[in-house]
Amino acid sequence: MTTAGMASDHANGSVGSVRSIDENGRIVVPAELRKRAGLDAGALVDFRFVDGSIVMTKVRAACVLCGGTEQLTQRHGKDVCSPCLQEIRDGHDPVDRQIP
Ligand SMILES: [Zn+2]
Repeated sequence: MTTAGMASDHANGSVGSVRSIDENGRIVVPAELRKRAGLDAGALVDFRFVDGSIVMTKVRAACVLCGGTEQLTQRHGKDVCSPCLQEIRDGHDPVDRQIP
């Protein structure tokens, strides 16, 4: 069975696409939708059941320490912002301490 080529553009601009869910509940989000939603590999998504439909929303990454959303990098699978990384670095090496 193939679902390729079943995507279609509707009048309201949404892209319809049929996909099957495997036995473990996994599903491939169509590339076109991922592109439109800005979902790169590793992106976090939130699932909600709304009016009989499952709604998937991109979760905006935030620094685990301060909650900031700018200058994020990943450390051990967690998002941390550059200012916090700098703070940690400074704390671990007082010799190079810089006043922000
Ligand atoms: Zn931070």
